Amino acid sequence: MNKNGCRNSILLIEDEENIRSFISTTLKNQNYKITTASGGQEGLHLAASFCPDLILLDLGLPDMDGMNVIKKLREWTAVPVIVISARSNEHEKARALDGGADDYITKPFGSIELLARIRTSLRHSSQMQDMSLTRQKPYHCGNLTINFENHVVTLNEQIIHLTQIEYKLLTLLAKNSGKVLTYTFLMEKIWGPYTDSNNQILRVNMANIRRKIEKNPATPEYVFTEIGIGYRMAEGD
Ligand code: CA
Repeated sequence: MNKNGCRNSILLIEDEENIRSFISTTLKNQNYKITTASGGQEGLHLAASFCPDLILLDLGLPDMDGMNVIKKLREWTAVPVIVISARSNEHEKARALDGGADDYITKPFGSIELLARIRTSLRHSSQMQDMSLTRQKPYHCGNLTINFENHVVTLNEQIIHLTQIEYKLLTLLAKNSGKVLTYTFLMEKIWGPYTDSNNQILRVNMANIRRKIEKNPATPEYVFTEIGIGYRMAEGD
């Protein structure tokens, strides 16, 4: 059950019809809400529009490698991803986990194993959310909303796709909105204490963020430059 008292929603990305229908039936019988996609592009699209609580992902998809699906998802969401694949070697498994998958299940598998993996992943993810619930209310300012709980940034109700670094930078600024954060502070928080003092990487990322969220990056509405000091984000509503 999720916090609204409904069974969790699951997105299944799998091209093989028989496996898709086996998993769908199994999950429907357990009252999960299930959405299916038969390719990577369709899956990414559905992940963004439905914001499922968990994703089951086949690695061998016809239109793109499942590894790339994980990579794309991790640019904007921390939704748990369980990889389902015929590939059983450890290298592939490690690569999927390093790439951001939460768990891995090898075909063929039974319904009991599948359901157990799903329950575990959902439990971990809700614990993670509870831990960060020092009640981070979403940031709202003008047409920009940042939902810290589900890592979704929207502008005019459209999802903005940010890289992990861009998301970290933007949320750090938003959580401190109204305050100037210095280049050094931002560099240390995002890239660690041993990065060199050249701010080029920070400026590049900030330019990318502005391109994505500002109507006119030269006259920003959300993130302001404090010349020679750092950046300041507009105070939330
Ligand atoms: Ca496949």
